[in-house]
Amino acid sequence: QSRNTFEKDVSVGQKADQQAFGHLFLSDNDLVHLQVDQVNELTLTLDFLVQFTNVSLYHSCQLLVVSCQFGGRSSKSVQKYIDVRKNNSYLITLLPYFINLQVKITRDSMIKKIYKFGGASVKDAEAVRNLKNIVAQHKDEDIFMVVSAMGKTTNMLEKALNDFRDNKGELGIEALSDVMSYHESIILDLFDQNQEHPVIESVSSLFIELWEKLQNTDQPYDYQYDQTVSYGELISTTIIQEYLNHCDIPCRWLDSRKYVLTDDRFRAASPDWDETRLRFSKLNDEHIHGIVCITQGFIGATVDGKHTVTLGREGSDYTAAIFANCLDAEEVTIWKDVDGVLNADPKRFDETVQLPH
Ligand code: ASP
Ligand code: MG
Repeated sequence: QSRNTFEKDVSVGQKADQQAFGHLFLSDNDLVHLQVDQVNELTLTLDFLVQFTNVSLYHSCQLLVVSCQFGGRSSKSVQKYIDVRKNNSYLITLLPYFINLQVKITRDSMIKKIYKFGGASVKDAEAVRNLKNIVAQHKDEDIFMVVSAMGKTTNMLEKALNDFRDNKGELGIEALSDVMSYHESIILDLFDQNQEHPVIESVSSLFIELWEKLQNTDQPYDYQYDQTVSYGELISTTIIQEYLNHCDIPCRWLDSRKYVLTDDRFRAASPDWDETRLRFSKLNDEHIHGIVCITQGFIGATVDGKHTVTLGREGSDYTAAIFANCLDAEEVTIWKDVDGVLNADPKRFDETVQLPH
């Protein structure tokens, strides 16, 4: 949602011992235009900008004075970054002429840490509880989680899809019910065997959608694959978001298909970086400190938003990298469900030992 554009006459801070007045207008591209008459010295404070823009105080931001024009006689352009975390006001000294000042507010990314949990890290209720413990320890650090389908779900869904296609929709139900009972037992374990918990309904409706999409066996294989196999991640993230909320860790579910926009090479889609970056610029604005976000690895959507795509098997690491890049995050942590790091590849050497940690 774009910020409102408006114009108004405002009081803009101090001019020596009296208030200065000016004309302010906001344009859509984050620029605050401020025209001030007859001011010698003007202090722009963060409070002032917060008052007239949607910059939340939670956001650290930089002010960039894009241009500062001294009307009539001469005109001059200045560019200056002010890091408001260190210095929350900016003093500009002006000639006593009409000026037109443009201030651009750029937000620093708040989301600095991307945590990726692969299938093995969410393969059963115990693993999900472990994830919860990790997130609980870091929940004040504005974490963004990218999560895969649980355990071997992607393989199971591939099998269900192939069974549906081979049997024209007849026998595939068996493979699908394996996926359903696998998830059901994890849910019941996590939610204290509560058959009434709303998560059951949310997950069931995803399974109904999936069931319907599995019927479309006349679609091209790669296309139908992406429309169905993508449900593994939609289901896992739905369960985990509910579980974190259940454990009093506020968690927001994001549909990665709204952010990762790609071409239409189904099963091997590549991001359209311009469109993808555009979507991410809103994500930071909406972020609320203290709420962890969860989204799906492996999946995205075509630029028109109409079709789900997948990025290729094992694509969740790639999703984590896309989010990290577009959010300008500081670190990506790929959590692994292992006891530690060995001194060599155990597939190639017999007597490997675990390094102390
Ligand atoms: N669930 C997908 C797969 O198993 C993506 C991933 O886990 O990285 O390939
Ligand atoms: Mg993996």
